[in-house]
Amino acid sequence: MPRIDLHLHTTYSDGSLPPAEVLLLAQKAGVSALAITDHDIVDGIPEAIEAGRRLGIEIIPGIEISSRYRETELHILGYFLDWQDPLLLPRLARLRVGRHVRNPRIVEKLNDLGLALTYEEVKARAGSDSVGRPHIARVLMEKGYVQSAKEAFDRYLGEDKPAYVPRELPEPVEAIAWIREARGLPVLAHPTWVKESAEGLFKLCEKLKGEGLMGIEAHYSTHKPQQTADYLNLAQRLDLLVTGGSDFHGLTKPDIEVGLGRGGLQVPEKLLEPLRKAAAVS
Ligand code: AMP
Ligand code: ZN
Ligand code: FE
Ligand code: FE
Repeated sequence: MPRIDLHLHTTYSDGSLPPAEVLLLAQKAGVSALAITDHDIVDGIPEAIEAGRRLGIEIIPGIEISSRYRETELHILGYFLDWQDPLLLPRLARLRVGRHVRNPRIVEKLNDLGLALTYEEVKARAGSDSVGRPHIARVLMEKGYVQSAKEAFDRYLGEDKPAYVPRELPEPVEAIAWIREARGLPVLAHPTWVKESAEGLFKLCEKLKGEGLMGIEAHYSTHKPQQTADYLNLAQRLDLLVTGGSDFHGLTKPDIEVGLGRGGLQVPEKLLEPLRKAAAVS
């Protein structure tokens, strides 16, 4: 069965491979269409479209925006958006500025903990100005302070860990509105990360739908079959579109493969048609 992958990161944010190399892996995995969803930046999309033309893979323009939800984050994906929209671009640029306000404070905390690194070293690992904690994790790995990105998050960078510093994030309703204003489809990313009961997640999605949310990422690398079934059911009850993707990052999430996730991911190609239809009238 043909598969698609609607959640992938490249060197334009915190992935470790450029768009063209991600597409080569997609081709090997039998992926017919994919969305590049870099954090807070759309600059990798033209390169992906170009490589997609060569390889015969459809590219759906995408984005991933983190928003603040209580003490944690809600990630909102956007699809089929007009990625050159003059309202969207400065909004994304502001989010990237927020990263440069937070990141040096994380580096300072790490320095206070006795780890020697500079923000210059972190920025040197980034392929654009969308610099994130995974770039900091990479420096910590290269210096031998941790063995993996996961260890960097578990020991230092994750929420509630000693070097955690929150960055200024939009409300979910803002991220949703920005995507809608760029004629895109806003989708709740990886619902498994939402720290809510099943009923809490339902209520949250109901509220977000009232604010413009249009879909939910039911298929995701780390979703167990029962979770996927529950999220598909939630989508049906709330009349939300269904999407799915691997959240491929390359080195910083070495267990996740393009199109295949941890091996069992199968995002059906038939999900695309309803998305296309919704995008055509958005
Ligand atoms: P930031 O957007 O800079 O706050 O960094 C958050 C990003 O780090 C997320 O979007 C993930 O891509 C990545 N991330 C979060 N937790 C982990 C983890 N345990 N291991 C590797 N990457 C992670
Ligand atoms: Zn990421
Ligand atoms: Fe995410
Ligand atoms: Fe992601």
